[in-house]
This record gives sequence, structure tokens and C-alpha cells, in this order.
Amino acid sequence: PQGTGIDFKAELNEQQFLAVTSPPGKSLVIAGAGSGKTRTLTFRVAYLLQNGIAPENILLLTFTNKAAREMLERVQSLLPVETRRLWGGTFHSIGNRLLRLHGERLGLRQGFSIMDREDQKDLMETVVGSSGVDVTSYRFPKSEVIGDICSLADNMLVSVEEVVKEKYDWFEPVMEGINKVRDAYVAKKLETNNVDFDDLLALTVKLLEENEDLLERYRRVFQFVLVDEYQDTNALQCRMIDLLTGEKGNLMVVGDDAQSIYSWRGADVNNILRFGERHAGARIYKIETNYRSVPEVLELANESINHNAGQFRKALVSAREGRGMLPGLVKVDNPDAQASFVAQRILELHEEGVPLAEMAVIYRAHFHSLNIQLELTNRGIPFVITSGLRFFEQAHVKDVSAFMKFAINPRDEVSFMRMVRLVPGIGGTSAMKMWSAWVGMGDVTSTSKGIVMDGEGFAELLLKLKVPKKAQKVWEQTAWTLDELLGKDGVPVLPGRMIRSVVEGVYEDYMKAKFKNADQRGQDIEQLEEYSGRFESTEEFLSQLALLSGLDTDESPKQAEVKEVEDAVTLTTVHQAKGLEWHAVFAIWLADGMFPNSRVVDSGGLEAIEEERRVFFVTLTRAKDELYLLCPMVNFQARDGNIMVRLSRFVEELPEELMEVWNVRSFSS
Ligand code: ATP
Ligand code: MG
Repeated sequence: PQGTGIDFKAELNEQQFLAVTSPPGKSLVIAGAGSGKTRTLTFRVAYLLQNGIAPENILLLTFTNKAAREMLERVQSLLPVETRRLWGGTFHSIGNRLLRLHGERLGLRQGFSIMDREDQKDLMETVVGSSGVDVTSYRFPKSEVIGDICSLADNMLVSVEEVVKEKYDWFEPVMEGINKVRDAYVAKKLETNNVDFDDLLALTVKLLEENEDLLERYRRVFQFVLVDEYQDTNALQCRMIDLLTGEKGNLMVVGDDAQSIYSWRGADVNNILRFGERHAGARIYKIETNYRSVPEVLELANESINHNAGQFRKALVSAREGRGMLPGLVKVDNPDAQASFVAQRILELHEEGVPLAEMAVIYRAHFHSLNIQLELTNRGIPFVITSGLRFFEQAHVKDVSAFMKFAINPRDEVSFMRMVRLVPGIGGTSAMKMWSAWVGMGDVTSTSKGIVMDGEGFAELLLKLKVPKKAQKVWEQTAWTLDELLGKDGVPVLPGRMIRSVVEGVYEDYMKAKFKNADQRGQDIEQLEEYSGRFESTEEFLSQLALLSGLDTDESPKQAEVKEVEDAVTLTTVHQAKGLEWHAVFAIWLADGMFPNSRVVDSGGLEAIEEERRVFFVTLTRAKDELYLLCPMVNFQARDGNIMVRLSRFVEELPEELMEVWNVRSFSS
């Protein structure tokens, strides 16, 4: 690597250097937490660019879109190259890009909508409702469970039958019904020009499998494919990578089997463990130095993961000097005392000069954080939540985007229903009638040039729909508002202007009638409008909205991505904290039943406990300098009153001499 001034040797250790400069072909970096895997990928990108590979020939797949952005910013700081041209992001966002370009080959139309989890659930419910399958009969799974079953089948590349047999065997008697519902769901998506999250991957794989020309083309485009957090890929993602790289392609994957925490969603750790077998001649690099954590933290983490019998032993050695301060074990009286301790310690650290952004509160499940949120709010300590509260999934944000989605994709039944039902006086039955009338008008298609139908405008068409008398006036307003979204020539206007039109046209009134805190919600919408300014088209903006709202807890919310907060404490679930690091980490609610969570405890299966311990390991290894393990000893429950809490077995099993016990008696706030 000659030329520009990156001193790779100085920035990397020997294994990292070998991986970064490895010759073309397949390579795997399998290494422990904090050993510089992500750093290695970042420098690999810089190395490729420096050696003349064009940015558009590199594909970087990461766990969040934000992670990709940050890595590319880092590359940008090393090299004067336009990294914007590089393909970087999550599997879902890359799938989305490919489907926007070529989806018509699969029968998708332009402007297809992406459903988030909630839309998906709604649609599944509709389908179950009209399928004639009896869901009231005992033991028949609810639509939500059917959704989960179908999703797992997609992601694991197996049949619905297999998923049911493996994980839901008590549903075997109703197999036929589940299949019927699934077929209807697939048909409905196609009919309404909608895709769900799994489709973004499954349809991309289908596209590549069925179109030789595209496969060849993208193998040429993606000369170098790089994947972070490879241990958490599922069969579908693995297939997507294999298709895009082919036998001859260049692929570098990095990951850590001790941090595989997504098997419940179909991730398969064998993808990383068997990489060498699947790709003969692959180069394998191992790094055993940890650059992130002080030895005191690392020792505790090593000790914990070694309780997993099924784990390959890796002894991570810290490259850092000790601070002479052990991780704290803080047993507190109750949840309030826990919140109070965390807030107090955050203020002290801040006083000592640690930025708030260098501190995180980490928990197993989002609802564990409610107390902390209150306490931080009361004390005026700014925080961002990277899980749970999903900015884009709030009702008012979804309402406004329903107008936009429908304007872009007039076959979008889900959005149409949502929008129409806002009109006072239109109930479920009228809405359904309106929808049949709408699709009955013929092939209502949207192209990038807008609505094309017998030369009639959008508003004129919408006004033909019969609505209840008392809804007439507002419906007219709604129709004209929608018309505005398409501009004079029928071309969709920019997203910011759309949002404005929706709010001023009708939504402001709805909001005032519907919500007590309309002002607050109005501010959210303004935020949304500002955020939309980053996008060149409404279609792009809406895709991003859906991608950010994401799956379950993982790819979720990012209030932080919308509201740029200067310096703030991070509140996050473990799953969302993957790959990140902070000066100080507070792990809260380390109680049996909370962490490990009760579902895992009840199931009692060894595999489940081991995965849960890996989740705990991921928690510990997020800390650079200071780590606090907290557990309230008494909890209050409405039904049972005060109940005693058992310290998490994951903490119990660790030698006490590796921790410093903080005796906090009734902390007063
Ligand atoms: P995780 O398993 O949590 O994803 P990782 O293996 O990806 O961790 P990184 O996040 O890349 O690890 O690195 C951890 C920290 O160590 C970062 O702050 C990184 O900058 C630093 N680091 C890694 N390698 C080196 C090195 N050779 N010299 C100095 N610092 C390093
Ligand atoms: Mg990493």
C-alpha cells in the first residue's frame, strides 16, 4: 500500500494487517469481542480503494445502516475518495435498492411499499379474517404467530412444515390452515404492491436466482463483498452473499461465534463455523488481542463465556493497562434505587469529564428501562434510546406516511385503509366498500410520472368514491390533499412538501381531534419534515422510513437518527448494542427471570441458556473502562406486592473476587 499516507502497519496488529492486505479470494476473520474486526473491515475498504478499486465495486454489509455510515466516514477521513458511491448498509437496504431497480421482473410495480411489523400484522389479520380458516378453534395460532412461522421459514430457507415441526409442534394439526393463510398473504402482498421485510431478502434472492443476466451483472459490479457480524447471518442472508459473490468472487467476512445472539430469528452460527468447509482455500485469520476493555473487565467477560460448554475456548488478552478498578456489583433495594444510583453515577462521571455519549445503560428488554427514563428525565440528563420507542412507528408518523405511500402506490390497501379511517364518519365497512370501488375503477397504476388513468386526475377519481354523507366534506379535503401530493403534472412532489401538504390539508385537524398531546406530535412531524430534506425523492424517503423502523428490537428505531442530540447517554437493549462500545456501561436488571429472561429460564434448554449467556457476554464486552452490574433485590408488582428478587445466575456464577461489591443501602433521591 504505497502512495497516500495511511500507515497500515502502525494502525494494525499483524493479523489485522494480514487480513486487511489479504489477496483476493475468500477470507474469514474469526476473532473475539473488541479485537478490531470492524476496524479491520474499515481499513480493508481503505486498502481496496487505495489500490484502485472503484467505490461502486465494493459492497459493505453491516448490522445497521448507521454502522455502515460510520465506517465509511472513517474511510473518508483516511482517504480522499468519494465513499458515497460505495454500496453500504444492511442486507435489507441493499435488497431494497436491487428490488427498486429490477423488481418488475418479479411482478412488483414501481413505487412498491414496504410494510413494517405493524402493517404486516394488520395485513396478516385481514388475510386470516377472510381466509375462512377458523382461528377461534382451540389451539389455532393467532395471526401473529402465523406471521412468525412464515418469517422463520423464509429466513431459514425451509418449508413452513419444517418450522412447525421444529418449533411449534403443537400446531401440527392445523398445518393446512397455516399454509392456506400463507398463500393468501403472499397473494395479497402482490395484489397491493407491498413487500414485507423478509421479502426484501427473499425476493432479492429470487431475483438473482431467476435472472442469469442480473446475477452475472451484479457479480461484476460487486467485485469485493465485505460482511460484518457474520455470526448472526441466517440461511437467507448467507444465500444472498453466496449468490452475489459466486465461486470466484472476493468475499471477506468477520465475526465472533461467542457473540451469536440471533438464533431465535433463524441466524445460524454454522455459517461462520463452517465457512472454511464451504469455501475450500479460504484464508482464516484469528485475533486474540482485545483493544477495547481494561483487563479487569475482560477477565470477567472471559470467565462468563467459559461457562458455556458448547463454546470454543478463546482467551482474549487485553492490550490495555489495568486501572486498578474492578467492575462493580451493585445490589440495590429496589428499582427506584437502581435508577437513582445510575443517574447519580452518570452525573459524577460527567463531572469528572466523561462525555455523556461515552456512557450507556444496557438491558435485556426494553421495558426494563422505564424507571431509568423517568429518573434521567427528572434530573435533566439528556439520553437517546436506541430501542423500544420507535420514532417511525408512532401513530402520527405512520398516519402521515400513509398518505404519502398511497400517493406513490395507489394499490396500497394497507395505507388506503389507514388514511380513510382517519376521516370522521368513515368506519370499517365503508372503508372496505371504498377500497373495492377504488380497485374496481380499473388498473390504477402509479408510475414515476404519476397516476395514469383515462386522463383523469387523482382527485377526480377519488371523489367518485361513495362516502357516508357526514364524511363528505372532509373526504373532499382529503382527495384534494392527495392530489397536491402529485403536483400539477402528476409527478410526486418532494417529501418535505408532501408532509407539509398533508398536515395543512387535513392532518392538523385530525391530530387535534385524536390526540391529547397534539402539540408534541406536531413537533415530531416537523422533525420528520426536516429529516426528509436529506432525500431526493419521496420513494427513497419512504423506503428509509420503513428500513429504520425495522425488525423487532434489532434494526429498530433510532430516535437518535432523527433528532440529532449533541451529548447524551445511550439507553439500549443488548441486541441493539452489538458492535458498539462506551467508556462506562451500566448493566441493569441482572435478575433471574429478567436476564436470563423468564422464557429462557422456563424452557430450561441448555442451548437457550447458552445463547442467553452469549447475550450477557455481549453486554459485558461493550465496556471500555468501567462496568457496573446492577440488580434491585426487591421488586414491586401490582398483583403480588413486594417480591424478593434473585440475582442473575450469570452473576452468581462469577468469582466474587473479580468484582467490587458496592453496598448501596436505600439510596435516597
Ligand atoms: P465487536 O466484537 O464488539 O464487534 P470488534 O472486534 O469489531 O468488536 P472493533 O470495534 O473494531 O472490535 O475495535 C474495538 C476497539 O479497539 C475500537 O475502539 C478500535 O478502534 C480499537 N482497536 C482495534 N484494533 C486496534 C489496533 N490495532 N490498535 C489500536 N486500537 C485498536
Ligand atoms: Mg465489530
